[in-house]
Amino acid sequence: MKKGLLLCVCQGTCPSFKGMDIFEVLNTIRREKLVDFVSIHPQLCADDGDGFLATLMSNRDLDALFIAGCDPRMQQKMFKDTFNEAGFDPQKHFAVDIRNMTTQQAIDAIKDLIKKSVSEK
Ligand code: SF4
Repeated sequence: MKKGLLLCVCQGTCPSFKGMDIFEVLNTIRREKLVDFVSIHPQLCADDGDGFLATLMSNRDLDALFIAGCDPRMQQKMFKDTFNEAGFDPQKHFAVDIRNMTTQQAIDAIKDLIKKSVSEK
């Protein structure tokens, strides 16, 4: 099962992400080998974010994409069209809101999401 994690951080300027070290969040998840790759994007809901997702989705081997950023319902709405156009099943997108969290809280929230997605399979 191939899994990837994206962090999206509202351009890095939003106060909601100031309480955490985003690189340490990614480092922890990759050091523990909980996913096959990690990445960060400053603004997935911008046009170039759609392009980034479409390029990533062209890898049809991806079984799960975790996106940590804003509200899961917002994510589902914003990325639905791109996923559909790319032929990526939106059911393989797992979202978690990490705004206003500390580094450890964000790590724990992402780990919970990954654990939950595996137990749903
Ligand atoms: S997708 Fe969400 S977290 Fe990313 S820039 Fe847009 S509003 Fe911010």
